[in-house]
Amino acid sequence: MRLPFFQSGCKCTLVILIFVPMQKNFSQLLIKKYQEIKRNLPWRETSDPYKIWLSEVILQQTRVAQGLPYYYDFINRFETVTQLAEAPEDEVLRLWQGLGYYSRARNMHATAKEVVQKCEGVFPSTYEKLISLKGIGDYTASAIASFSMGEPVAVVDGNVIRVLSRLYEINQPADSSAGKKMFKSLAEELLDTRNSGLHNQAMMELGALICKPKNPVCEECPFSHSCMAFSNNSQTLFPVKKVKKPLKDRFLVFTVIEHNQKIWVQKRDNTEIWKGLYQFPLIEFSEHTEEAELLKKITDTYGIRSADIHAVEPEIKHILSHQRLFVRIVHVKADVLQQLKGFTTVEISELSNLAFPIILAKYIQRKFY
Ligand code: SF4
Repeated sequence: MRLPFFQSGCKCTLVILIFVPMQKNFSQLLIKKYQEIKRNLPWRETSDPYKIWLSEVILQQTRVAQGLPYYYDFINRFETVTQLAEAPEDEVLRLWQGLGYYSRARNMHATAKEVVQKCEGVFPSTYEKLISLKGIGDYTASAIASFSMGEPVAVVDGNVIRVLSRLYEINQPADSSAGKKMFKSLAEELLDTRNSGLHNQAMMELGALICKPKNPVCEECPFSHSCMAFSNNSQTLFPVKKVKKPLKDRFLVFTVIEHNQKIWVQKRDNTEIWKGLYQFPLIEFSEHTEEAELLKKITDTYGIRSADIHAVEPEIKHILSHQRLFVRIVHVKADVLQQLKGFTTVEISELSNLAFPIILAKYIQRKFY
């Protein structure tokens, strides 16, 4: 059975009426399950809003196992938000290297500066103050306020959306503006306002460990008796997503030009991917290009001899959220070299101190260390 009002947008009065019976002991069942299954994670042991914020930023679009060492690196290196704000951007990006979505690191750094400026270095813990900061949205503000202060605000992340959309077979895409309002309002209806931090953690954990994207473990779920998707065997149809644009293909060739134990590098300052990170001289092609043509372009562009081409790496495919990158790396050892406008040279031994996109950082590790 489907509830028709879910298909046409948020009608909060109806939502409230329908959910009252489930809400009655929803939170009790939820928290009981949480106590059984929860993972011991360091940010669950603290009420410090700064540390909770760091964990939330790191864990966006990142698995817990991958994010954990980064969390420790950041709290050890930057014990306070003021230390983070005062650090050079290069250092923050270097510590972030490998997590991807570098705009998160730059936004995090900007938010730290904003906290120092506006809040005298005291990280806010109320929803109202948090949401007034430029770099903090509803999800992060709700998480920090409820986890650190027990403020009664519901957290809505991808895990929570999956649970709710399956429980009620919600056909509204969660990334539409109507969908965002609907899921928030529903999560607020179900929230145990006296126990909001625990309730929110439990919802997220249920989504992460039980109501999993591909193989939900419905037989272990405390809501299987009332879950519409379980009863209709339609779990994989939810949550509904907006139709995505196809990924854009890009063909990038980096040339690692080595001369007298030094390498030419440049800091990216454009507004698209990898802003603020370092790179080697780059040529972008509009399509797959034969190796001979590609090498000719390199020798012509940088004024080097074809005899100086030392190695050509096989193509690497690298998927970003909205682009598919086909990357070639060409290693050149040049005896004589003309000046490269916009580039500087660094000692090979210094390369590991600079923040590169992960694809280049791995190459550097493999080739030079
Ligand atoms: S019964 Fe299954 S699909 Fe429904 S909420 Fe629980 S885990 Fe998710």
